[in-house]
Amino acid sequence: MNSTSQYQLVPCRVDEPEHEPYADAFDRYLIERGYARDTVRAYVGYASHFLRWTQRDGLDLLGIDEAVVTQFLVDHLPHCDCGWPTRGDQ
Ligand SMILES: [Zn+2]
Repeated sequence: MNSTSQYQLVPCRVDEPEHEPYADAFDRYLIERGYARDTVRAYVGYASHFLRWTQRDGLDLLGIDEAVVTQFLVDHLPHCDCGWPTRGDQ
């Protein structure tokens, strides 16, 4: 059995319909590499949160670099007000 026939999407939270193709591709990438379903769900959720934040702040996805990711992790996450569940909500 190859990895494609084993592939099943993990239901994840993706609020924006335009994000679904990216979430599905990321989901497939993680599953094909053997990540557990809960881990896939969490990672796709984090990526979706990141995408929502970039859109809300009007960031150009082509300009995403380590500094932008650091800004998300250090500045946004501790003070997230976009309604996304954070680690502190668990
Ligand atoms: Zn947020």
